[in-house]
Amino acid sequence: RLKEGRALAEDVWSIYNVANLPADCINLGQGYMNFAPPKWVAEAANTALQGVAENHYSHPKGRMRLRQAIKAHYGPQFNRDLDVETEILVTSGANEGQYSVFVAFLEIGDEVIMFEPFFDQYLPSVTFNGGTPVYVPLHPPKKGGKNTSNEWTIDLAELRRAITPRTKMIIVNTPHNPVGKVFTREELEGIAALAEEFNLIVMADEVYDCLTFDGKEHVRIATLPGMWDRTVTVGSAGKAFCATGWRVGWLIGPASIIRPTLAATTRIVFCTNSPLQEAAAAGLEQAEQRGYFAKQREEYAERRKILTDAFDKLGLTYTLPEGSYFILLDIKNVKFPDDYPFPQSVLGRGRDFRACWFIALELGVSSIPVSEFYCEEHANIGEAYARFAFCKDTETLKRAAERLQKLK
Ligand code: GLN
Repeated sequence: RLKEGRALAEDVWSIYNVANLPADCINLGQGYMNFAPPKWVAEAANTALQGVAENHYSHPKGRMRLRQAIKAHYGPQFNRDLDVETEILVTSGANEGQYSVFVAFLEIGDEVIMFEPFFDQYLPSVTFNGGTPVYVPLHPPKKGGKNTSNEWTIDLAELRRAITPRTKMIIVNTPHNPVGKVFTREELEGIAALAEEFNLIVMADEVYDCLTFDGKEHVRIATLPGMWDRTVTVGSAGKAFCATGWRVGWLIGPASIIRPTLAATTRIVFCTNSPLQEAAAAGLEQAEQRGYFAKQREEYAERRKILTDAFDKLGLTYTLPEGSYFILLDIKNVKFPDDYPFPQSVLGRGRDFRACWFIALELGVSSIPVSEFYCEEHANIGEAYARFAFCKDTETLKRAAERLQKLK
């Protein structure tokens, strides 16, 4: 099935991988940290590696200690006494969890609605499983100049029009990658009402749930009236504990969704790596008492400020994110020579691919071209932006901010 188009094209993460960029280029591209997980979490990983059971297969549902920790940490947030046997599934990263949901539920031709821009992985994950992605715009702010992520808006009438008898599922990503939008309760209520009316499954990708700023409330669509039974919520140890390479994530939802998804995940990966599940469990068990997430939020708000101050100083247009760790910068005015020695992988794509490559090589700061988060037909909208990740230590961000002064 993987013959042409986006499915076979080189993915943006591989193109802008540090391996392809000069060694001294500051990496604000793919969203991962340039610092280690907290010591107490890493120590739990070390301890687990000395064990016996901890180094072997776990139950496909996930190790009991992690499932218990997920129950204890998330139960109150969902206002539910989560059942560790039927309502929690540990997955090999959030991606694999989402993929397994598609494997379990999509029939050929089923439509999956996603707000556009969307995290790029959704598109192939849906099409590989015979599904058809349907895009509903997240409208960029109409007024020019600096804006906030909540000025990117959805139109519920448009969402309604996108629903057909083949619509099976809708993906709601909040806080949103790449926009940083934190969906409001009102927006989620509107989406929820349509999901109920048309009997849709909601995939709530909430991997940035611990990263909201300016007192913004993260609302879980699964907690709205009537929504538990049709919603699967996606979480990530990589985001929570600064360990994106661990590939440990989880799904929380009703047995009706978790059970078939467990069947899929069992046949895809069988189980998730065991020792790092132990470490993720230790993380969730101790986070509250250590004030970990509150502190992390403050640190990320500071990191965000380093970049936004730099952009403000330059008078550049960007979207201030209210959640996640990405900033969209308007790059329409960034100039570069057409005959610059761009690699082939970049030449075949939108202007933003070339702009990001040029900024990475000439200014020494990498970012991600945002047309990748749009379908081919709408890629031109995304070409206006580059996404900068601020999940880096403050020193690095300050150096990047200095280098970016040349954007003027
Ligand atoms: N979530 C990461 C980002 O948006 C990418 C992870 C991936 O699947 N490559 O930067």
